[in-house]
Amino acid sequence: MPGVGGAAAYRDLRRLAHGAVLRPGDDGYDAARRVWNGAIDRRPMVILRCAGAADVAAGVRYAVRAGIELSIRSTGHNVTGRAVSDGGLTLDLSGMDGLRIDPERRAAVAGPGVLWGDFDRRAQEHGLATTGGRISTTGVAGLTLGGGFGWLMRRCGLAADNLLSVELVTADGTVTRVDGDTDADLFWALRGGGGNFGVATALEFRLHPVGPVVTGGAVFYPAASAGRVLRWYRGFLRDAPDVLSAQCNLLRLPAAPFVPAELHGRPAVAVAVCHLGGEAEAGKDLAALDDLGPPLLRRIARMRYTSLQRLYDMAGRFGSRVHGRAGYLAALPDAAIDVLASAEAAPSPDCIVMLSPLGGAVARVGETETAAGHRSAALSVSVDAVWRDPAETAAHHAWVRRLWDGLRPFTDGVYVNELGDEGPDRVRAAYHPASWSRLRDLKARYDPGNVFRLNQNIPPAGPVTTASGEKTPAPAPGRLG
Ligand SMILES: Cc1cc2nc3c(=O)[nH]c(=O)nc-3n(C[C@H](O)[C@H](O)[C@H](O)COP(=O)(O)OP(=O)(O)OC[C@H]3O[C@@H](n4cnc5c(N)ncnc54)[C@H](O)[C@@H]3O)c2cc1C
Repeated sequence: MPGVGGAAAYRDLRRLAHGAVLRPGDDGYDAARRVWNGAIDRRPMVILRCAGAADVAAGVRYAVRAGIELSIRSTGHNVTGRAVSDGGLTLDLSGMDGLRIDPERRAAVAGPGVLWGDFDRRAQEHGLATTGGRISTTGVAGLTLGGGFGWLMRRCGLAADNLLSVELVTADGTVTRVDGDTDADLFWALRGGGGNFGVATALEFRLHPVGPVVTGGAVFYPAASAGRVLRWYRGFLRDAPDVLSAQCNLLRLPAAPFVPAELHGRPAVAVAVCHLGGEAEAGKDLAALDDLGPPLLRRIARMRYTSLQRLYDMAGRFGSRVHGRAGYLAALPDAAIDVLASAEAAPSPDCIVMLSPLGGAVARVGETETAAGHRSAALSVSVDAVWRDPAETAAHHAWVRRLWDGLRPFTDGVYVNELGDEGPDRVRAAYHPASWSRLRDLKARYDPGNVFRLNQNIPPAGPVTTASGEKTPAPAPGRLG
């Protein structure tokens, strides 16, 4: 079907929707097309700032009818920037930030524009929380639909494991509520399949008693001791209870108030922890940190869970350029430790190599029970270059490439929310092979025309049905994305 011009789309959408419709040059257009990764600069033909599910449905139906590319932007944190279409229609859901906490039922319903910082603050008023992102400015939607890692996951499972239901706008523009009873297949796909199956306009989560005070923070050691710290970390993880989550990160000490000025920018290896138990229990479980000898800096304390959830906020500044690679590790062999320990220091202060543990409640869910896979992995490793000056792009890409070339042979699969623009084989690698075929079959059932393709795309199995009802051969996986 032929596309439409910006003027027609603007006029039509103004008639069909309640939310603001923005064209290039309009006030708010640039803010609505910005994403977290400052390297992305896409210009939609038109942006609909959705006021609710009805606007989303109108936008989806309009894009299909007009044959224009559709993108879904919730909070814009995905590094690929596929939340924003270049030349098509972007549905901006960031204003759909309603949040309802039901302490009696231990449940919360959040709009796709809700940030984890707000979610945590409101849920913690009742001593409750669910697994959510480790930076308070990350949003609930994209993170949860892709799986959802966070400090609580060893105790409470992935964010997607805590989904109770989703209000969804499907590819034909219908608004529907999906849970395990209404549509078990679709609900399965939504828990890990990313934005491939519709637009989530509300997400209902199970909440758990957490805190409000936990033990958290980090201990920093000189980068030269990375090999020793990583070997210790491997053993520490093996014995860790579910209430303890510990990351091991290679970084530069930030120029933050809690860091003495003489240590700012110093390459270091950090063990960052969250312990959900009482003070005595945490003291016992964290005592092994003392085996590592004197650190450069130790900042572990009893703190509010909401404060712990902001510890990394400095590294999450909107507009930074970012480029990274990630993968799952079944174990942490000596050879992988050697690669990490001999890594050259990051070219700028916000770059980070992060080892995040799975295990606990994540591993107790079966590999194909949800679309989110790789549950038996011990760790996820990510190498992220973060910088501001475009002139430094090549140096940062080269740093990631050199480190990743060494690490990649030890990895198996990847967390879909940590994927960059890496091609269709890497999207497939995010899933168990049986889940991948089921996802492709379900995509053919729920989105045969691949309307939702600006994402880590799962191509529909079999021929693709276009909006006009025409059947075309199935594309090579990922070619539509
Ligand atoms: C600073 C930072 C910290 C992060 N921390 C974590 C972390 O702790 N744990 C973790 O697991 N991940 C983390 N991430 C990764 C994050 O989960 C992904 O980037 C996620 O895709 C962002 O979600 P979003 O809602 O901002 O997506 P957007 O960037 O707005 O959209 C990205 C894609 O998600 C899909 N999507 C978004 N909203 C919807 C919706 N409502 N319905 C259907 N599809 C939708 C679309 O396909 C869209 O193209 C972090 C990212 C950043 C930048």
